[in-house]
Amino acid sequence: MADLPKQAHVVIIGGGVIGCSIAYHLAHLGFADVILLERQQLTSGTTWHAAGLVGQLRTSINMTKLARYTSELYRGLEAETGQATGYRQCGSISVATNEERFEELKRSASMAKVFDLEVNVVDVDDIVARYPLVNGNDLLGGIHIPSDGYANAVDISQALAKGARANGAQIFQNTKVNAILHDGSKVTGVSTPGGDISAEKVVICGGMWSRDLAASVGVNVPLHACEHYYALFESVEGLDPSLPVLRDYDACTYYKYDAGKLLVGAFEPSARPWGMDGIAEDFCFDEIAGDFEHFEPVLQDALQRIPALQNAGMQKFFCGPESFTPDVRYHLGEAPELQNCYVAAGLNSIGLQSAGGIGKVMSEWIRDGHAPVDLWEVDVRRNMPFQGNRKYLRERVSESLGLLYATHWPYRQYETARGVRKSAIHDRLVAAGACHGEAFGWERPNWYAPAGVAPQYDYSYGRQNWFEYSAAEHRAVRENVALFDQSSFAKFRLEGRDAVSVLNRVCANDIDQPPGRLVYTQWLNTRGGIEADLTVTRLSDDAFLIVTAAETEVRDFSWLRRHIPLDAHCVVTNVTSAMGVISLMGPRSRELLQSLTPADMSHAAFPFATSREIELGYAIVRASRITFVGELGWELYVPTEFMLGVYDEIAAVGKAFGLEHAGYHALNSLRIEKAYRHWSHDITDEDTPLEAGLGFAVKFDKPGGFIGRNALLRQRENGLRRQLLQFLLRNPEPLLYHNEPVWRDGDLVGHITSGAYGHSLGGAIGLGYVHLREGENSADVVSGDYEIEVAGARIAADASLRPMYDPDNARIRC
Ligand SMILES: Cc1cc2nc3c(=O)[nH]c(=O)nc-3n(C[C@H](O)[C@H](O)[C@H](O)COP(=O)(O)OP(=O)(O)OC[C@H]3O[C@@H](n4cnc5c(N)ncnc54)[C@H](O)[C@@H]3O)c2cc1C
Repeated sequence: MADLPKQAHVVIIGGGVIGCSIAYHLAHLGFADVILLERQQLTSGTTWHAAGLVGQLRTSINMTKLARYTSELYRGLEAETGQATGYRQCGSISVATNEERFEELKRSASMAKVFDLEVNVVDVDDIVARYPLVNGNDLLGGIHIPSDGYANAVDISQALAKGARANGAQIFQNTKVNAILHDGSKVTGVSTPGGDISAEKVVICGGMWSRDLAASVGVNVPLHACEHYYALFESVEGLDPSLPVLRDYDACTYYKYDAGKLLVGAFEPSARPWGMDGIAEDFCFDEIAGDFEHFEPVLQDALQRIPALQNAGMQKFFCGPESFTPDVRYHLGEAPELQNCYVAAGLNSIGLQSAGGIGKVMSEWIRDGHAPVDLWEVDVRRNMPFQGNRKYLRERVSESLGLLYATHWPYRQYETARGVRKSAIHDRLVAAGACHGEAFGWERPNWYAPAGVAPQYDYSYGRQNWFEYSAAEHRAVRENVALFDQSSFAKFRLEGRDAVSVLNRVCANDIDQPPGRLVYTQWLNTRGGIEADLTVTRLSDDAFLIVTAAETEVRDFSWLRRHIPLDAHCVVTNVTSAMGVISLMGPRSRELLQSLTPADMSHAAFPFATSREIELGYAIVRASRITFVGELGWELYVPTEFMLGVYDEIAAVGKAFGLEHAGYHALNSLRIEKAYRHWSHDITDEDTPLEAGLGFAVKFDKPGGFIGRNALLRQRENGLRRQLLQFLLRNPEPLLYHNEPVWRDGDLVGHITSGAYGHSLGGAIGLGYVHLREGENSADVVSGDYEIEVAGARIAADASLRPMYDPDNARIRC
């Protein structure tokens, strides 16, 4: 073995398809010293046994872009490197055996227009003509994607490695990284049996080994291996390399031509986690025993779908391990716990078809220090610390694997590893009929079942069983008062004599306000993109309470911590667990609260966007007058041990004021009616406050400026290219979820970023960006005939720049 270098710019740990692709892309970007270290041989982990499917349709624009790039890369890789890849563009067909699945497929075909990917809805005759081996008797139809294909995972990896070497990267096999080295805050290199290598950046691409390797340096990469099965059948008549890949989601199976044989793979609903006690040190091109009985039901269905298999011999039954994650999305990006430590792992059985795109975005991320596009859905910062817990992972990944092919019901909730994070009043809310959903480990009431109704979901693409109950909650908020448990809010306390200057530089709004003021603000990156969307309350001259979404607890905390200069006198503490939050929202919230507290709750004494401590029952709680539903209301920040008492006080008087409990589904409908933006859906690090219509929260002229100011000034000067609008369907029947295409005068101009039913406005509502025409300004963009496409049908819609509900804020500032 050649001597290991003593230093490198970037060290990549792991020589599966992901590590090879990152090496390839870094080398192509011109990184001079990139080293890839593989403990055994390239592809010897999971990659060697990938079935080889290369599909492109994903649930979001950027994920689809990544997958499309992967296909394009693979198409030209053989010509570039001289290494055969087995890539073939044979197309793919996905079939539906029930109406709901067909609606899902049709919705995804509509969505694909936004992604500029050709996806055709096909009837049964067309399916049978394209795939003559299929039994189409019980099929309703499907979709055909002509540009999908398959490839050989080992050859693709070798080609990527060859392309990386050709551009200067060095690859060392049989070289295990024993430890990642760091100085307490950032990475400094790696340690191997052949000596230490100092490095500026380290990328963990260790597949199913990644969780433990990352944990050894305090980095959280929640993933766990599961058994993953396929069977190879001997050739049958009519089997041809040009047959499309066939996916039968309802039977959890896929079919692929494989070197003269037919490969039948499965994503069964309940998977078997594997490797709980660690993975053998000498694991190398290994198979695992698996359980034929576990796989057999899938095979029985396969024999019905492809009847010719009934007379074909099964040549091989295969089981191999692959890592799965709690939300079936992979982990990319710089670890929040350790600077310059990057992660690309947890590929959930789509590693081959994702590797090209991952290599591209990871190499740019490593070069620039930020993601090239919004990648929040796969960003490693979305993970909560508890998700590294083994018991949690074991239970959850048994569900994750099957979700790849399960119907992607709107509002679908996880069924495993539930009850992880509970509000202090959880049991009271259960008693009140709460149907809890799970978000980032938190159990949160999504809707409340009336007496006699089971708090359970009955999923569909139409109006689900909770629709009318949630509508009643919505009306309670608009007409009387309702209680939301928002304890899952992430809460940070920033204090110290430099707190105001540090925070004001991070915030686009001016948070240098008198104590007791509450400010809605965004945190921007240097490109003007929105990194966070939150409220800041000044508690005293040198202390602030920052409240943000549960989803971004780790990300926002890390963003703020990294923007505190080393010499600044200020410290941030995560106080999420210290406080629960009860929100009282609605026109009668003042009356209700006033009946419980000696504090003066009048508008004059307690104006909008102020916050103060009040007595409530035996507790002192922080009441903040703010709203995410567009009505008069207060968020009450209650020390955790006082939550039950405060809740009981409120519940005891509630009836007199028409108090109802309300859940997150009602919250979502209320906030979209008021056109309140939701970070991760409507605003991301790719969108600026000006495009999002949040310019009112940007204080360009405040002393000291703020991060992102120059970019926003440039954008203001050059004019906007797109603008966020609110939409209301004129037909009250169809429902919007997200990603539906937006048409203007017959042109595709954007897509819905979040949607719900607006019970006050009387139809489905949504928010979405629209591209401006040449020379057009924001005010003109609402003109024209707007239509939103739902499952192939275009529905006329009204568009508005201002909130359709209470545009003058009369209901809030009273
Ligand atoms: C049966 C099956 C079928 C599949 N079919 C498909 C498919 O059709 N399409 C698709 O897209 N995906 C498919 N996949 C998934 C795909 O194979 C994986 O997602 C992908 O191979 C993961 O690549 P990776 O590089 O993350 O992991 P790996 O291939 O496991 O690579 C990680 C590497 O890191 C090395 N390593 C770990 N720790 C260290 C260390 N400390 N030092 C040095 N090296 C280390 C390991 O030895 C390993 O080689 C399938 C998976 C299975 C199991």
